[in-house]
Amino acid sequence: MSSQELQFIGGARRAGSGAPLVITEPATGERIVAGAGADGSDVDAAISAAREAFPGWAGTTPGERSAVMHRWALLLGERAEELAAVESRNAGKPIRLAREFDVPGTIDNTAFFAGAARNLEGRAAAEYSADHTSAIRREPIGVIGSIAPWNYPLQMAAWKILPAVAAGNTVVLKPSELTPLSSLLFAEAATEAGVPAGVINVLTGTGPVAGAALVEHPEVAMVSFTGSTAVGRQIAATAAGSVKRVHLELGGKAPFVVFDDADPEAAARGAVAGSLINVGQDCTAATRAYVQRPLFDEFVSRVADLMDQVRIGPVQDPETDLGALITRAHRDKVIGMVSRARDRGAKVVRGGRIPSNTPAGGAYFEPTLITGAAQNSEIVQQEVFGPVLVVLPFDTDDEAIALANDTVYGLAASAWSTSVFRTQRAAREIRAGCVWLNDHIPIVSEMPHGGFKSSGFGKDMSAYSFEEYTAAKHVMSDITAVAHKPWHDTVFRTR
Ligand code: NAD
Repeated sequence: MSSQELQFIGGARRAGSGAPLVITEPATGERIVAGAGADGSDVDAAISAAREAFPGWAGTTPGERSAVMHRWALLLGERAEELAAVESRNAGKPIRLAREFDVPGTIDNTAFFAGAARNLEGRAAAEYSADHTSAIRREPIGVIGSIAPWNYPLQMAAWKILPAVAAGNTVVLKPSELTPLSSLLFAEAATEAGVPAGVINVLTGTGPVAGAALVEHPEVAMVSFTGSTAVGRQIAATAAGSVKRVHLELGGKAPFVVFDDADPEAAARGAVAGSLINVGQDCTAATRAYVQRPLFDEFVSRVADLMDQVRIGPVQDPETDLGALITRAHRDKVIGMVSRARDRGAKVVRGGRIPSNTPAGGAYFEPTLITGAAQNSEIVQQEVFGPVLVVLPFDTDDEAIALANDTVYGLAASAWSTSVFRTQRAAREIRAGCVWLNDHIPIVSEMPHGGFKSSGFGKDMSAYSFEEYTAAKHVMSDITAVAHKPWHDTVFRTR
């Protein structure tokens, strides 16, 4: 990989024209590559490439798009190990997570959308007036400006790009400036597979410079954003100025509700895996466990014991379970939230410290278990985005549902019980885009991902995502061949 060329525009790598960017390894703080970031002129160039490519790509048949996307999925499969190594190094992920989750998930998503491209349809045509046939054309929107976060860089690039291009749009993706490397490889593989130059462009640059220019640009028809609620709000406000379609996948604060008839071992294991995955930097991670009082002490003790078994270490070691947070600045934010929780009377049962024997330049943090926090406190209400699980007790089922719904977020949740009635009630009453029952985290390409409330709107993955990336056009055809139509009389009478 060239150390200087961090942009992918019109099917080729090139250097940016903006300020220097250094891409570093979260696990060590060492530099991976440096190059120039994208500025407004690179944003213009990428949007022009995407505009030029749009008519040709939108004019391909679904079968043609599907064929190149299938080749793309195969190429990604051949490069799985390279992708996993880059993702692990750039995002501070244990290699096992990159190999077993990020990369296969992305390949599966690509294969899914290769197939789904052939199933885009409008509803059946019919005569809804006696004199006309109506039909629906489902059309691509144009150039999509996509902006992604750093927590799952490859998967986020895939979730943003795949439904858009499968539907015939062209894309300019701005990954996080911290983690662009796997997105660049993903786009290059598309070009090698036969996706025409300009259909997919990647701009490595900062949010306020490249991201803001993309959102403001008049030739961008839609902005698809995954990131924090604060930035999402700004993006929606800016996009309103040029009446762009907006899709927002924002923050989360997933509740994890354990009723007293749950399997205690399954719930404890689920809580540890669900809160520590990707060092908790997962918008659906389990963050607030509400446990019915008879099970509370056992749950806390089981979770603490399991957290003790988690191995922190170098990300390239296949034995490592927990990697690094994305930056030391982000770790400082996590440390600040844990320390303020302690100041407000919460108990840190496990962790809460920087682990020993990790590189000084890395951003590691111990798995952390907290009890005794107040429901209205920052640690329960705000995203920590770190390996921190807060456990709180409840008494009645009504109280559990109310507590689960008591944040501004609504992305994901889980409920744990052996009673079908309790789990079905939780599924119905918890306001979140995904409710897991007796599990927490698994995702599949066929099912949608997206939030309620301040977690945003619109769906990633699945055929539902085509609703975001297509516009329904009504085509109404006269079937009478009559010049003087009865309805004309409502405007002018000529008889
Ligand atoms: P962030 O909001 O800081 O940044 C996200 C992206 O927006 C980055 O590419 C950034 O450069 C860009 N950006 C920042 N300011 C901008 C601006 N003014 N204009 C345009 N672009 C701008 O988020 P992050 O710290 O990268 O990621 C973590 C957040 O992402 C968490 O809140 C997490 O919950 C959320 N997230 C949500 C989902 C989901 O599916 N809902 C998935 C993953 C992450």
